[in-house]
Amino acid sequence: MTRSKKKNRNNIRKLALDQIKSYFNEIEKIKSDNLPLANRYLDICRRISMRCKVRIPRSYKINICNNCKKLLIPGITSRVRIRNNKKTHITITCLYCKNQKRFYINKNENR
Ligand SMILES: [Zn+2]
Repeated sequence: MTRSKKKNRNNIRKLALDQIKSYFNEIEKIKSDNLPLANRYLDICRRISMRCKVRIPRSYKINICNNCKKLLIPGITSRVRIRNNKKTHITITCLYCKNQKRFYINKNENR
């Protein structure tokens, strides 16, 4: 692959990431009053990320169900609980497909 092509691909990735971020900003604004549109935007974001091979940032990924790929909004489309068996963790349940995702809280982590 020539140098210019590689550079071009990096540019595309940068643009794609920018677009994903702007879509997520839009989702933040409309998710409380227009859920179908927010889900549609999310679908577009996922398509952009797949086509351009860009990862969706982790801070946004928390809001997406792993199973049905829908938007998780605490109290509306998802249930958030703090559980404590052996280790303290947060459980987020998707109310569409009842899929659960867990985040472990590491107390010894220095971040
Ligand atoms: Zn789900």
